[in-house]
Amino acid sequence: MKLLQVQNLKTTFHIEAGQVQAVRGISFHVNKGESVGIVGESGSGKSVSMLSLLKLLPPNAELTADSISFDGIELLRTNQKAMRKMLGKDIGMIFQDPMTSLNPLFTVGQQIMEPLRIHQKLSKEEARKRAIEILQMVEIPSPESRLKQYPHEFSGGMRQRVMIAIALSCSPKLLIADEPTTALDVTIQAQILDLMRDLKNKLNVSIVMITHDLGVIANMCNRIVVMYGGAIVEQGTTREIFYEPKHPYTWGLLRSIPQFSEGEKKKLISIPGSPPDLLRPPAGCAFTARCPHAMKICEKLPPRPISLSETHQAACWLMHPKAQPYAKEVIS
Ligand code: SF4
Ligand code: MG
Repeated sequence: MKLLQVQNLKTTFHIEAGQVQAVRGISFHVNKGESVGIVGESGSGKSVSMLSLLKLLPPNAELTADSISFDGIELLRTNQKAMRKMLGKDIGMIFQDPMTSLNPLFTVGQQIMEPLRIHQKLSKEEARKRAIEILQMVEIPSPESRLKQYPHEFSGGMRQRVMIAIALSCSPKLLIADEPTTALDVTIQAQILDLMRDLKNKLNVSIVMITHDLGVIANMCNRIVVMYGGAIVEQGTTREIFYEPKHPYTWGLLRSIPQFSEGEKKKLISIPGSPPDLLRPPAGCAFTARCPHAMKICEKLPPRPISLSETHQAACWLMHPKAQPYAKEVIS
């Protein structure tokens, strides 16, 4: 059962220098109870595509799509008021830096209770009870006294737990997490990911997890969408992306996951070069300038997504029958 289905979403920012084509026609879906990872470098269009479908774009942005359907509702035809109601109630969000999303002037308790009182019309006492339950759910010790504290009295990891609590407080159907662990150190990062995985299983909420690090979503997501230059270059089950990746950019991302072997850290290989200028997107494949396998056709014509299985698609000329010898190449 599909909870979210996005078809041919395009987002363009009008700036003085021209038009930035930040999202260039993406299509993907999220099933009920499933978690989907969206991975790519910064500037690949991951966050913008999420903000687009939630209609949280600045006024200089232009959004078009064939359809954005959420839980049977066409969001393209949903007005701002209905959209705002949906956010926080049916769709929860977590961002990278919990300090900027929490209000420093209000206690954590006030901030957890507010959406409960607005969206679920709970009384003050009911909201307090529920807030304590939620803090217990995200494993914050002594929740009753924690409710009275202000955000600065929490550590970074604890603040992110509070954000998760707020996002989940109204039992949303979909949780969108944008780099939720990027600002945290590695140990805390692992704890937050564990918590999110537990909650996903317990609450049966669908999750979209945005990250620049494939390693972060390996144990968490059912499917992975790889974005580059405002487009989806590959998508598939987590197994397909990790064990049968077909796009050279995915190969690069896999090589850049930090690996620990017998306590030693292997050298991290990053993908050389920089992302395309989306003010003047290339005519052909956006990855051409950085791709070690680029062919003449790559510069001229954009590759179309090719289905490799019911769940796996990749957009790369190496998938063309005439390029088969290269396509068999595997990452080392
Ligand atoms: Fe590389 Fe060409 Fe495939 Fe693009 S289409 S990823 S340039 S081989
Ligand atoms: Mg981002």
